[in-house]
Amino acid sequence: MRHIAIIGSGPAGYYTAEAAQKRWGNGVRIDVFDMLPVPYGLIRTGVAPDHQSIKGVSRRYEQVALTDNVRFAGNVKVGEHVSVSDLQAMYDAIVIATGAPHDRKLGLPGEDLANVHGSAAFVGWYNGHPQFAGLDPDLSGRHAVVIGMGNVALDVARILSKTESEFAGSDIVTHALDLLRASKLRKITILGRRGPHQIMMTPKELGELMHLDRASPRVDKADLPDEADDALLEPGLRKAVSHLRSFAAIPESIHGEKDVEIDIDFFASPVEFEGDGRVERVKVERTTVQAGRASGTGEYYHVPADLVVSCIGYHSAHIPEVPFDERAGRFPNDEGRILPGLYCVGWARRGPSGTIGTNRPDGYGVIERVAEDFDSGALGTGGKQGRAAFDQLAEARGLDVVTFRDWKKIEQAEEAAAREGAPREKFVDVEAMIRARG
Ligand code: NAP
Repeated sequence: MRHIAIIGSGPAGYYTAEAAQKRWGNGVRIDVFDMLPVPYGLIRTGVAPDHQSIKGVSRRYEQVALTDNVRFAGNVKVGEHVSVSDLQAMYDAIVIATGAPHDRKLGLPGEDLANVHGSAAFVGWYNGHPQFAGLDPDLSGRHAVVIGMGNVALDVARILSKTESEFAGSDIVTHALDLLRASKLRKITILGRRGPHQIMMTPKELGELMHLDRASPRVDKADLPDEADDALLEPGLRKAVSHLRSFAAIPESIHGEKDVEIDIDFFASPVEFEGDGRVERVKVERTTVQAGRASGTGEYYHVPADLVVSCIGYHSAHIPEVPFDERAGRFPNDEGRILPGLYCVGWARRGPSGTIGTNRPDGYGVIERVAEDFDSGALGTGGKQGRAAFDQLAEARGLDVVTFRDWKKIEQAEEAAAREGAPREKFVDVEAMIRARG
């Protein structure tokens, strides 16, 4: 019998479990650990609450989770309740699928001012992540600045712009909906240090800005490159840029009809956050872009900012005993191999890029490596006890392991508590989750 431990129950973790199960069927036992009592990682706490169709992929993970050879072990923090060397003594292979939960810092003066938030915290707040549920951002000012030209910046700008009725059918948590309902924000400036041809936004997500009830996107025509140059772009980016061109063509009369403006400011690199204890404005340097690289022009201006959300990417969290590449912000690896018997997958392997679906080939790929290592004898001669040994250790240490059956009870309680039309009302603290399993 092969025993595999997967640390992290998000998309990368469950695609890896699926791949292992498809490969070895009853010849494998897979335990999927999570520090939270609830599964699915970014599907639950990263994907925007108004993108329920993306969240629907969790049904596929559930099918994997419900098979006999895969087991969910929630409320277990690797590195605290159980160490990697504990796991190594029990499992033949350990796959780290812990994603990239920490915000990359801009490293700018004033970043610690009140109401400057990173996207991990801000997205975690509106998605009910227990670590960030108490963030309580101040939405009482008129101006927000969102930094970055990726899909997370779009998620944040869109969530800040929506009316209550546009959240119908979403699972945005009530504490966030309450604050957003009372929001006084009227202008959201998205700052990008490069130009329209260098955005990381995808067309579907960018196009959504055209259909907001009370907000309209604004792009300055002068920022757009010659239209003929769009032909050189790959099709997805070309389509996204065509949306920017549509935004630039929106007549003033339409902007005038909307309460909120989403101003997409290109060639704009933040250099400092200013304010008296609390952020009031962002100092920005104009850039030019040559051969895809931004450089400062020495021209500065200020953008009013009562709230700042920096959406510039993430880094992985250290795990004791596991090597870490500080510069890259992830685990050093060769096609997923970190050390003999220790692997990484998903954002923990490649950094925070790609869509949920990108994790599928990643999961299947890392199981290929594990299989090669089983076949070559690199994973030893077997004899490890897997989950039987873990259960003994959990009992000896008094760990309160949350099973998948427990999760289904938590899920039922969340569904029962849902606002009308919403799929669920998430528990936002760990104790409430644990209580809900009965
Ligand atoms: P991202 O796509 O890598 O975008 C990060 C943005 O931050 C880039 O525009 C980057 O600009 C900018 N940036 C980085 N460092 C900066 C700095 N020091 N100053 C100013 N700007 C800076 O990352 P993300 O938006 O966090 O998304 C992460 C991944 O999740 C992406 O693959 C994304 O597509 C995916 N995602 C998908 C969806 C969806 O499909 N609906 C939703 C959310 C996230 P430069 O390019 O100039 O470095």
